[in-house]
Amino acid sequence: METLTRPNDLAADLPGLPPRVVIIGGGFAGLEAAKALGDAPVRVTLLDRRNHHTFQPLLYQVATCALAPAQIAAPLRSVVREQSNTEVFLAEARQIDLKNQSILTDDIVFDYDYLILAVGARHSYFGHDEWEKFAPGLKAVEDALEIRQRMLAAFELAEKATDEAERRAALTFVIVGGGPTGVEMAGAIKEIGTYSMTEDFRHFDPAKARVIILEGSPRVLGAFAEDLSESARRQLEEIGVEVRTGTRVTGVDEFGVIANGERIESRTVIWAAGNAASPLLRTLGSDAPLDKAGRAIVNPDLSIPGHPNVFVLGDAANFSHQGGTPLPGLSPVAMQQGRCAAANIRHLVAGGQATPFHYFDKGSMATIGRARAIAEVFPTIFKRLHLSGFMAWMAWLFVHVLYLVGFRNKLGVLAEWAWAYLLNYRGSRLITRDIGMLRNFSPPSPYALPTASNPKTSPPMASTAASGPVGPPAASSAL
Ligand SMILES: Cc1cc2nc3c(=O)[nH]c(=O)nc-3n(C[C@H](O)[C@H](O)[C@H](O)COP(=O)(O)OP(=O)(O)OC[C@H]3O[C@@H](n4cnc5c(N)ncnc54)[C@H](O)[C@@H]3O)c2cc1C
Repeated sequence: METLTRPNDLAADLPGLPPRVVIIGGGFAGLEAAKALGDAPVRVTLLDRRNHHTFQPLLYQVATCALAPAQIAAPLRSVVREQSNTEVFLAEARQIDLKNQSILTDDIVFDYDYLILAVGARHSYFGHDEWEKFAPGLKAVEDALEIRQRMLAAFELAEKATDEAERRAALTFVIVGGGPTGVEMAGAIKEIGTYSMTEDFRHFDPAKARVIILEGSPRVLGAFAEDLSESARRQLEEIGVEVRTGTRVTGVDEFGVIANGERIESRTVIWAAGNAASPLLRTLGSDAPLDKAGRAIVNPDLSIPGHPNVFVLGDAANFSHQGGTPLPGLSPVAMQQGRCAAANIRHLVAGGQATPFHYFDKGSMATIGRARAIAEVFPTIFKRLHLSGFMAWMAWLFVHVLYLVGFRNKLGVLAEWAWAYLLNYRGSRLITRDIGMLRNFSPPSPYALPTASNPKTSPPMASTAASGPVGPPAASSAL
């Protein structure tokens, strides 16, 4: 790292100035903390490598053409624009120096009096990072757009296919992981084929698209109560999603997956199976013990051992002081922790004590396509208030619009959903990237246009399944 300069307004933290709180990450936890410090006697610096907050629970709707990216994201600057004590920098934190209380980015060093680390998580491929390019995960807007284009490209490929095996592979969508993201993606993709694209293609029936969930554990939505998990499976199967539980994926390549030893030909594989915390946490060094997923193991007040001024929140934290197991990676956990860390900083600045975090669980929900969902409501108050089907779906709609950042986004999303529900219309269906992917997956001598030497179109490609790109490639044997 060469240049380590600081912006003028940050230079020389003169004595007497209010303490500086640096927040890394403008996701659910970091943004909530920044908002809660908006009127505190501190200077807040919010750093994020993206210029927007992403409402991750609706990413799958971008990936499946229901919403446009701007409808689920909000520019960080505009969210905190009214807070005169808060500045925003577009910067990727590379290293934390606990001893010198500073953060290194590519071009600037930021000093802090208090630090909030809310950097979230990425997907984990269980030691097979080489699978990522064949099976993208869903964490950011770019991921959603990538998945969207692959999915749309697969339908285009099916329309062009001259070989049944190739068409079948193009119309097979495999989702690895049966947690909320996997289930929601599966429901939405099935719905696209069944309702939204029914009249758009001439050479195949989109309703025949095969959507398969591969889940390693015995049930989908394993974090939910057993009856809800069973209901989710039933609802998925009712709309035609194949659910394979107890299924281990041992290979992924551009031609599909190997699951429990069986090869499934597919042109669209989506990864929704594992999480690992941000690598930035490793730069905390031995002062901050990490768990197996790379999350910082935090004290009851969300600080890290030996550093009462450094807080780690949300998906980046392992908080196990309530019930003995780590709290789940959910947005309400992150938001409540954001507010708690902000309150603790206020206490400390005022010469008081930090207080322990306590999570208030309002429940969880997951949607399974059109008018279907499951929901567990206020589990700490009602032992068994479990909803399934339409009621759960209404609750899901209400909660997601309520927590979406930005009034314009709330209105826009509501209008889009009403339109989609009434007319089965999904408008965000543009393929804007190079169609190289389509070409790569095309049969070797494609869709021949009539030529002088071949007045008819060329015959369907010869046994693609055996010799063309469809068969397991050499690389797959190593999988
Ligand atoms: C597809 C999907 C669906 C989900 N559905 C639900 C749901 O239905 N209900 C629910 O409760 N939860 C859901 N979650 C989980 C929920 O979104 C997370 O628990 C929540 O986002 C965690 O908040 P966070 O602030 O810890 O991290 P994030 O919201 O991920 O924010 C982290 C921020 O840190 C920034 N960042 C990371 N590294 C750096 C760096 N080095 N320098 C600068 N900035 C950095 C990122 O750009 C990002 O803005 C879902 C998650 C996903 C991915």
